[in-house]
Amino acid sequence: MSFWPYFGLKRGIKTTSWPSAKEQSPGITPGRPRSASNASSNATTQLCPTGALHPVETGVSVDLTHCIHCQRCRQGPHALPWEDDVAWTVNAGTALSPLGYRFRRSLHVRYIDAGACGACINEARLLDAPVYNLHRLGIFITASPRDADVLLVAGPITNAMCTAVRKAYSAMPHPKRVVGMGVCAINGGIFGENFACVGGLQKIVPVDLWIPGCPPPPLAILHGLLAVVGRTQCTTAEELP
Ligand code: SF4
Ligand code: SF4
Repeated sequence: MSFWPYFGLKRGIKTTSWPSAKEQSPGITPGRPRSASNASSNATTQLCPTGALHPVETGVSVDLTHCIHCQRCRQGPHALPWEDDVAWTVNAGTALSPLGYRFRRSLHVRYIDAGACGACINEARLLDAPVYNLHRLGIFITASPRDADVLLVAGPITNAMCTAVRKAYSAMPHPKRVVGMGVCAINGGIFGENFACVGGLQKIVPVDLWIPGCPPPPLAILHGLLAVVGRTQCTTAEELP
């Protein structure tokens, strides 16, 4: 007989208690930069390779929909303050009405890799790992869009995947919601719009929520999925830090 049940019982529960309690484990989130009022605006904005930092009258503002987490603005004399929360979900501009009460403990998600690099795929895959265990929150990954309530899409939407995304969206029953994860899904990220990809999920299907990040960590993805059913609050574009 295998010893794994014995070792499992001996080690105890390792699953995070988030969102009931803040997760304190090191490395649980890469963090993200915050706008700062006392930053040296010109020197700081020049650190950013994607143009996510903008000088404003009061200092520097961060456009998180373009931040690729290179961390160049994290260190040095012109560093910005960073926050380590995981509440990264942003309303995509539609008047999102959370899915009804029946979905709060039974939400089925169809994940589509629309040209994502391995990082977004790995973070999404970790949702099912023992530490995050999305099933404890009543969230399940489904293989068929016909069983899905949420379409979760990562990547800059390559030309080859446009039809697949459209067909998956069409096959989903109502009510349905669409969540784009990673800055590539928002605007193409480091790929932008080019000969091989359209550079943004919203050009293909209507999007309800964005989860910025490159990649967003698993708890940020879970935060977005819980926002779909109204169990967490998302940020509006105007409220972005
Ligand atoms: S971490 Fe984000 S905001 Fe900071 S320099 Fe890199 S891309 Fe720009
Ligand atoms: S957002 Fe970043 S991590 Fe995700 S697919 Fe794009 S480049 Fe990769």
